[in-house]
Parts: sequence; structure tokens; C-alpha cells
Amino acid sequence: MHNYYQPEIETMPREQLKALQSERLVRQVRHVYDNVKFYRDRMDAAGVAPEDIHGIEDLAKLPFITKDDLKDQYPYGLLGVPLSECVRIQSTSGTTGKRVVAFYTQDDLDIWDECCARAIVAAGGTKDDVCHVCYGYGLFTGGPGLNGGSHKVGCLTLPMSSGNTERQLQFMTDLGSTILCCTPSYAANLGEAIAERGLKDKIKLKAGIFGAEPWTEEMRHNIEEALGIKAYDIYGLTEISGPGVSFECEEQRGMHIQEDHFIPEIINPDTGEVLPEGEIGELVFTCITKKAFPLLRYRTRDLCYLTSEKCSCGRTHIRMHKPTGRSDDMMIVKGVNVFPSQIETVLLNQGYQANYQIVVDRIGNSDTIEVQVELTPEMQAAMPADTAEKEKIVTRKEKEVATGLKNMLGIKVDVKVVDLKTIARSEGKAVRVVDKRKLYA
Ligand code: ADP
Ligand code: ZN
Repeated sequence: MHNYYQPEIETMPREQLKALQSERLVRQVRHVYDNVKFYRDRMDAAGVAPEDIHGIEDLAKLPFITKDDLKDQYPYGLLGVPLSECVRIQSTSGTTGKRVVAFYTQDDLDIWDECCARAIVAAGGTKDDVCHVCYGYGLFTGGPGLNGGSHKVGCLTLPMSSGNTERQLQFMTDLGSTILCCTPSYAANLGEAIAERGLKDKIKLKAGIFGAEPWTEEMRHNIEEALGIKAYDIYGLTEISGPGVSFECEEQRGMHIQEDHFIPEIINPDTGEVLPEGEIGELVFTCITKKAFPLLRYRTRDLCYLTSEKCSCGRTHIRMHKPTGRSDDMMIVKGVNVFPSQIETVLLNQGYQANYQIVVDRIGNSDTIEVQVELTPEMQAAMPADTAEKEKIVTRKEKEVATGLKNMLGIKVDVKVVDLKTIARSEGKAVRVVDKRKLYA
């Protein structure tokens, strides 16, 4: 038995969905052309008029928007309604250094809450759940988004925000939280804290909704084990609204994109050419219902692929595969493309936990890459007291990891296996990469 939040939309036949998207796109293009000088200038320069857009088949005629455009237009350049109609701003977490401010009307907030509500229902949430939200609240979209969705579903909402692990665990046990919402890296930290305190039996969690940063399947398994839950992925970005742009259903084979609000495309990041379904490329979104900050053909820099294959959950909305990382996360080391997620896969497959850091540097003319990874509590406990003996074991472990990384990436990686608790824990998005080369750039 499914407990859909909005089956009339979420299971709509694709032909009908396309018609709905077309009608909304035509209206949205007219809206931005009439109300935003930036769009008018861009469309005029590209020789496209609102009359040229008859439906989604004409989408590719519109110019792209990039993060640099958002920076240039900061703060009000892309506003689609008078400021007096706006009721909220949110801002990106600035992971890639450039902050973006997004505006919302009350209707825009309702759409966003609804998207998050659908995600919570897809993870099995009902009004009887206790939804523990420890994404950050404030300018970051994680907390406010899931908070709004949780209210719509009717869960008892715990607006915990991030940090203060002791308090998180106290409320989680005292109030019997059943759904946990936070970044996957913080979920892993909570799992670690629960194990250390022997609290696993006191935890009533059944599901987790984790997103805002890339995470691997291996990390999903570790978190599910540590917390005794089913872990669901959720994706979003401030520019497009926040979390809930797409979410996993129980099938967990990609995240359904909420196509009644956002039209996705995958493009070749170098040429801008639209790629056929199934090919990996840069994800591009067009918002067709939001009014205050209506981005058309926004280049997310996230890399993934789409599939509209039938899903066993009954939802017809297209699915995006877990982003392998954003194009800005990709490091080019010794001429080779390296994603942190590839490194995470190797480490977790060798029994480590997701407590690691990648340091990239340039010495002379050549790149260096070092991966520091922590011993797990079990590995640490098994270490001999004798320093020389311990050194031997650590060296052997470092060699094993280096071999695994060489096989995965094709380049030599320096590995340091360090003691438990040496690498800083994150409360929000984890900082996995320190690229010292950028200091000299
Ligand atoms: P910032 O760009 O400053 O991090 P946001 O907080 O809006 O700003 O983060 C949005 C970005 O976070 C996305 O573009 C994507 O790169 C990443 N992200 C969000 N959810 C996921 C997810 N489930 N899997 C992988 N990456 C994600
Ligand atoms: Zn599904």
C-alpha cells in the first residue's frame, strides 16, 4: 500500500506531464521576459522572443544561466516580482566560495514545502512520525526546507538545527525520533556517537533523509547499519529552491525530480549540447512555477544522468542518478580526473569509515595527492601497545589503501592512516578536500 502525498501529480502519465510542463514553461517565459531585464536582454541577444516558446520542445532555444550570472546580478538583478511580494531569502552555504541569495514569495515557499513533504512521504513518513531535523537552520536551506515539509505531512517536528550532539541524542531518545534529516556526514557522526554511548537500543529511528552533499552507496550501508534505519537520498540547491528538488522513493534507484515544478536537462558541459537520456553530463534546471527567483536553464555543475524508465513505486517523474560530484569538486591531479566519491568508495570497501580528508598540493611542477584516513574504533582497539609493532601494521594498511586507490584512479596516492578522532567531524557539509594549489592560483 502506497501512501502518496499527491498521486494525481506524482503518477501522472508522462504525456500529460509534458503538456503541463509546456503550459507552465510558456507562462514562465512570458513572466521573466516581462519582469526581469536580465532575461529580456539575454533573450533579445539570443534572438528568442517569448512567442518562440510553444512548449518544452523549444526549451533549448533559451540561453543558459550560470552561477557567475547570479553573482553578477546579486542581489536583486533576477527578481521576478516586486520586493514587497517577497517574504523570505535563503542563501547557499558557499561551498564553492560564491554565495547566492534566493528570494521567495509565500507561494514559492508553499511549493518548496510541498516538495519536501513529498520526499518525507516517499521515505515512509506520516503524521504519526517524529521528524528530527538537524540540518542547519538559518540562511542554509536544509533546515527550513525539511521543517516546512515535516509540518505539511503533519509529523511532530523537532527543529534541532545542527551541532550539539549530546542534545541531539537526548531528544532523539527522550522523544523517540523516528525520521532523521541531516547531511550524510552528520548522520555518520551521530551513528558513531550512538555506538560510543551504547545507545542503539534506545533509538527508535526507522528512516533517514540525507542530502546536501555527495555520498556513496558504501556510506549509505554504513549509516543504515549504525542507525538501524533505511537511508534515503534527497537532492536540491538553493538556486532552484532548496532540498526536495528530487528525492528517493523506496525503490532507491535514482531520485525522482519534481517535474511539475522543475524541468531537468543534461548537457555536455563543454559544448552546451543537450545529451540524450542516460548519458552523464551537467544537470540543468528550469523552474516553471516559482515566481520570485525563477531560474531558466540554470547550470548546476552537478554531474549525473537521467532515466524515465518505469519505477516500481508508481511515480512517473524522471529519476536522476546520485550526482558523482559537481564539476567544481572534480580535481585534476597529475592530469587525471579525480572525484572525492571514488576515494570514498575505496576507503569504505576496505573497512574504513567516512572520516577522511584529501590534500592536494603542487611541489615543483608536479601534483601531489595525500589521503588521510582514520582507524575505525575496532582497528584502533586491535592495535598493539608497542610503537614499532603498531607502525608496521599502519604501514601495511597504508600500502593496501594506496594499492586500492592506484587501481581506482590510476595514479599514485600518498596514504596516511591516522589515529581515531584525528580528523575534524562535520556538523553540516563535510570538507573532504583541501586543495593547496588554489592558494597559489
Ligand atoms: P552550495 O553550492 O554553497 O553548497 P547549496 O547548499 O545550495 O549551496 O548546495 C547545493 C549543492 O549541494 C548541489 O548543487 C549539489 O552539488 C550538492 N548536493 C545537494 N544534495 C545532494 C545529494 N543528495 N547528493 C549529492 N550532492 C548534493
Ligand atoms: Zn520510484
